[in-house]
Amino acid sequence: MSEEGKTQQAGGATVETQDVVIVGAGLVGLSVAYHLATKGVTRVVVLDRESMWANGSSGRSAGGVRLEFSHPSSIKFSQYGLDVIRDFEGTFGMSASFNPCGYLFLTKDSNRWEKMRELASMQQSLNVPVEVLSREEIGRRFSYIDMPDLIGGTFCGEDGVADPGTVAYGFARRAQELGVEIRLGTEVTGITVEHGRIAGVLTTGGPIRSACVVNAAGPLARRIGAMAGVDIPVFPYRRSIYVTEAFDGLPAEMPMTLEFETTSYIRREGQSILMGMSDPSEPSSENIETDRESLEKLITTVLSWVPGLEKASIMRGWAGLYEVSPDDSAIIGEVETRPGFYCANGFSGHGFMHSPAAGRVIAELIAGESPFVDITPFKLERFRNQRETPESFVI
Ligand SMILES: Cc1cc2nc3c(=O)[nH]c(=O)nc-3n(C[C@H](O)[C@H](O)[C@H](O)COP(=O)(O)OP(=O)(O)OC[C@H]3O[C@@H](n4cnc5c(N)ncnc54)[C@H](O)[C@@H]3O)c2cc1C
Repeated sequence: MSEEGKTQQAGGATVETQDVVIVGAGLVGLSVAYHLATKGVTRVVVLDRESMWANGSSGRSAGGVRLEFSHPSSIKFSQYGLDVIRDFEGTFGMSASFNPCGYLFLTKDSNRWEKMRELASMQQSLNVPVEVLSREEIGRRFSYIDMPDLIGGTFCGEDGVADPGTVAYGFARRAQELGVEIRLGTEVTGITVEHGRIAGVLTTGGPIRSACVVNAAGPLARRIGAMAGVDIPVFPYRRSIYVTEAFDGLPAEMPMTLEFETTSYIRREGQSILMGMSDPSEPSSENIETDRESLEKLITTVLSWVPGLEKASIMRGWAGLYEVSPDDSAIIGEVETRPGFYCANGFSGHGFMHSPAAGRVIAELIAGESPFVDITPFKLERFRNQRETPESFVI
């Protein structure tokens, strides 16, 4: 730590000071750090209690990147994320392995089908090349699907899958090269507030004074909020992913395919299939163990619409935590009642694809600039004002 990073306190003790403290070295915290550094804000420390970065939800994602959302601001977040991920090698010198396999959403529900068609027009007006597909067209183009009660679906060929680990690594390395410190094995245990404003953090490595703290703690965001006296309604929910052994007969073209009503999804992972599903009956918890019961439910569900998977055996699986907000949209920005406290939380299962834009927006706000996307729909205060509109494109 340089001398300029220390202040002398009245009692003679030296206390570290930073312009910005970021809590959490996952995709979101690292993206904030990178985007701050590109603006010349480098007296920044990223703290994580783990001994590795991106070891929380960021290391457990399915890697999906898509443009289809029901909020225009979420679409713009995805468009920026997709640009960053597609051009990753040009900017960061390493490929994020983007595979533009597309996203196919399916529905068996006539009300949802109507809504999806309405939303497709809005998405197309924002340059999202989404196609509305009848049940017959889906049968012709995606013959692995056998769903007798299917009504229709939407397909976006610009979407795809990339490697979250490389994206996190790219953000981290470039932020470090520009002067940001990433300090692992350091847990934030408290946040100090003076005269209603953020004044610093308490950590297992000692206190740090800073007028600016970014909450990028993923599924644990609510705990960090509580330390600052702010209620952030973000709750952790377990989500499991399983991957089959390699097997013959996979279709050459297979988008990330999601079935809304069961929330089950599949995609190719090399010669294997990766699959997952939510369980709405499972309560919020920090459990990240996989279990036989959820695997059996997933297999039964997926086989009901992709019968060709009967030949496949499960090879491995893992679980992680979604960080879910009440309306399934992120909570982003400076908290009005706590100046200096910034949130980038509640991504509800789309935090990989939205991490580039979330980092850019938080960096812009800290630098006193207008965010490049209207973040009004993401403000924490929407819950107080009951102005939230649930996001439709989530599973
Ligand atoms: C199974 C699964 C599949 C997913 N699939 C997709 C997908 O296909 N596409 C997509 O876009 N998103 C997906 N997501 C969501 C995405 O992974 C997350 O939204 C994203 O990783 C959140 O990043 P984060 O940096 O906010 O959180 P995290 O990666 O969890 O990082 C938060 C960090 O904060 C640290 N921390 C917490 N408390 C403290 C403390 N007190 N002191 C210090 N450090 C602390 C933690 O150790 C952690 O490293 C998926 C998530 C899961 C679980």
